[in-house]
Amino acid sequence: MQGDDYVLISALQHYAYCPRQCALIHVEQTFEENLFTLRGQRIHERVNVPEYELIEGVRVERALPLWCHRLGLTGIADAVEFASDGTPYPVEYKSGARKPREADDLQLCAQAVCLEEMFDRPVPTGAIFHHASKRRREVQFDAGLRSQVEETTHKLRLLLAAGTVPPPVADARCPTCSLIETCMPYALKDFSQSAKTNAPFQVKGDT
Ligand code: SF4
Repeated sequence: MQGDDYVLISALQHYAYCPRQCALIHVEQTFEENLFTLRGQRIHERVNVPEYELIEGVRVERALPLWCHRLGLTGIADAVEFASDGTPYPVEYKSGARKPREADDLQLCAQAVCLEEMFDRPVPTGAIFHHASKRRREVQFDAGLRSQVEETTHKLRLLLAAGTVPPPVADARCPTCSLIETCMPYALKDFSQSAKTNAPFQVKGDT
């Protein structure tokens, strides 16, 4: 895998949440702040300082760089705890329960796949820490989740290579999406439907 072929683990999460959001961020370089992104940034500022510490005998590495040459993934883990036998346990910090579980779980599993290659040992579980509730939710990296990571990586790479922006989903994901102002999902969807019934031309992002 060449350097340019590596994709960000965060882009996988964006794709799993909404392919259009992923393309707006990673193809068109769009980013907008809202309450959720600002909260997330504050939380990540605390965990994105590289350091390590011992907590009750467990070594914790923060802001650990990650890579997987097999899938061409790269990113940074918020925190990785190492059991006494050396088994890594990734922990991802979230500002709230904003994203569907699937997107967060996929991101965490991608981190685990990287850690397995880096440390040459199985990584069966990890956790999402929700700042709002101060609780952890443990995630099992089963075969289904692992194959989703591989499939999504493949689809993400196709999206980035195509350089196009998919049409809006215009559903329950949109109200809390940081890109709703730029994306205009409902207006575009209405316009797209109207255009389809009235004239044979394409709206940007309408495939
Ligand atoms: S507003 Fe909706 S369609 Fe647009 S990027 Fe966000 S989730 Fe996707």
